[in-house]
Amino acid sequence: MIYLPTRVFFGAGALLKAADHILRLGVRPLLVTGRSGARRSGALDDLTVVLDRAGLAWELFEQVEENPSLETVMAGAEKLRECGCDYLIGIGGGSPMDAAKAISLAAANALGRDELYQTDKFRSSFPLVAIPTTAGTGTEVTQYSVLTNAKTGIKAGFGHDLAFPRLAVCDPRYTLSLDPIVTLNTALDALSHLLEGIYSNKRDPLLYPLIHSGAKAILYHLKPVLENPADLNGRSELLRASLYGGITIAQTSTTLQHSLGYPLTTTLGLPHGLSNAIVMRPVLDLYYPALQEELDALFAVLGLGRSEFYAWLEDLPFETSLDLSADFIEKSVGEVLGSRNMANNPFEISAGQIRDIYRGLRCLIPLL
Ligand code: NAP
Ligand code: FE
Repeated sequence: MIYLPTRVFFGAGALLKAADHILRLGVRPLLVTGRSGARRSGALDDLTVVLDRAGLAWELFEQVEENPSLETVMAGAEKLRECGCDYLIGIGGGSPMDAAKAISLAAANALGRDELYQTDKFRSSFPLVAIPTTAGTGTEVTQYSVLTNAKTGIKAGFGHDLAFPRLAVCDPRYTLSLDPIVTLNTALDALSHLLEGIYSNKRDPLLYPLIHSGAKAILYHLKPVLENPADLNGRSELLRASLYGGITIAQTSTTLQHSLGYPLTTTLGLPHGLSNAIVMRPVLDLYYPALQEELDALFAVLGLGRSEFYAWLEDLPFETSLDLSADFIEKSVGEVLGSRNMANNPFEISAGQIRDIYRGLRCLIPLL
């Protein structure tokens, strides 16, 4: 079963094609962004031209930090209420788009900070437009929002159909301004989502053509884009892969791989995509015997074997050095076991297997 309620506009100039649909959603949008990405990408300027020409009064909430906190979501919901906004436009990487989803639900359902994960209280949401400026999360087509509780240091997501954006506007030109490190990290996040579409116990062969095509796009275009950041065709392929990754996890959810990555982000401050990249090989090793047929079918499409895939990964411009303390590992094992995504693994994962993966990490830090 596939459920995909988001109308997707893709390609250079996507915003103009989507304009009529955006303008029909309401009269006063709240634009939700991070501090710089929406402007640097050019997306914010393009959007405000469209809104201004239509004579719409819009409001801006530009305080979303990386790995958005519950407090930021509450501040955004307060702003939405104060300004009387009737829909939202999230512009940026996964952080602002996820924050926009949670702001919409918090404001529409008058939720308090401690109720943001209580999806049984979700009755309605404000319409949301998502405009990605990174190529990685695919959150423009998912029902998930991943938030960080600053008090506990725990990062966790919620999923609800009311969180699906109404529209996704995916223009690869908005990713041209990404620096090589964010380009690399976010592409590896997309690759994680595609692989997890195979690992998940909700995997569906209907999705395999998207998974195969998305993974192939990353394999063929990531390194050329890192060498030539202005490669618009390569950028477009990476954004397409990210979109396919989002469509995939909207159906299958994420798995152990994302659960292992969250403590690396919250405790060590590693970016989300890098955290996934670090655990990609050990997770694939763990799952391979149980999913050999599905994974070999993917490698056949990629035109390489598993060891060559690992060689491709190793050849990415990451440098190795990370020393995980015993304390970090013990604390994280508990967090991983308690994470929602663990319900989606292809077989039950033990504390010992998690501990072994963390202990065996030879870390990757971007060299670029
Ligand atoms: P991000 O945290 O949104 O952004 C990373 C950095 O890139 C920020 O410094 C941002 O700047 C900058 N940036 C964004 N677009 C740019 C552009 N076009 N040019 C220059 N700089 C730009 O990173 P992300 O990897 O896209 O999102 C990660 C978040 O998404 C995590 O919280 C992760 O858990 C979540 N996620 C959600 C889903 C889902 O389905 N909901 C799936 C995967 C991941 P500013 O902050 O200054 O704007
Ligand atoms: Fe992710």
